[in-house]
Amino acid sequence: MPHISYSELKNWCQCPFYHKLVNIDKIKVFEGNEYTAFGTALHSVCEDLLTEEVELSENELFVQKFREEIKKLKTEELDKKLIISMFQQGEKLSEKAIPALEEYFGEYEVVRAEEKLYEPIDDFEDYLFKGYIDLVIKTGDQYHIIDWKTCSWGWDARKKADKMIVYQLILYKHFFCEKYNIDPKNVHTHFALLKRTSKKNIVELFEVTSGSKRTDNALELMYKAIKTIKSGVHMKNKLSCTAGYGCEFYKTKHCN
Ligand code: SF4
Repeated sequence: MPHISYSELKNWCQCPFYHKLVNIDKIKVFEGNEYTAFGTALHSVCEDLLTEEVELSENELFVQKFREEIKKLKTEELDKKLIISMFQQGEKLSEKAIPALEEYFGEYEVVRAEEKLYEPIDDFEDYLFKGYIDLVIKTGDQYHIIDWKTCSWGWDARKKADKMIVYQLILYKHFFCEKYNIDPKNVHTHFALLKRTSKKNIVELFEVTSGSKRTDNALELMYKAIKTIKSGVHMKNKLSCTAGYGCEFYKTKHCN
């Protein structure tokens, strides 16, 4: 069944042609690096610590998982110095992540670590929304949707308020509420930053407002993306070619 995820929506907003290359033609240029391996390992540690009886200590678990992720990368391109520092950073973060949840929420109950969403979208019978929520917990009768984000020193105020970043949680909340028929008023959304290079406050949780206006805006954007994708029109957004780290397809055979 055709579907759209938050990352596909983000790709489409960046450049509809980029979305076509990555999500329709399935062309893969970027295959992961030290940073993505670090993020995957740490996500997996947090999930295991919340759901399984783990015999290893938090940092042993991280070392095991990070090693596994690093093995999947192409060795000739690895930055060994960076990886050594990441082992130390990851060990520290894996010890602090769950205690930071307790400090922020007090007593809580884990509802789901990694909640899969594969939900129908209103007005688009032939399309589903696909997503994975990192963590859902409950305090009293209130639900909290949490997304772990690994980063270097943290996020500034501008990034914390960036609507495209926030839409991830907004969409997850909307479809989570639809899936379980939960009143959105009882569901809150939070990012949990796992900061690699920060000296203090290395795990930072903060709430993102997710009222009806924001939800409507996020859904509108997603509807627009689906309609355009279905129409087969994939415009090039040349403003994105060299923005940020630059597009991986810039001046390649895929987009010259
Ligand atoms: S190089 Fe530019 S136009 Fe081509 S896919 Fe990337 S962002 Fe879009």
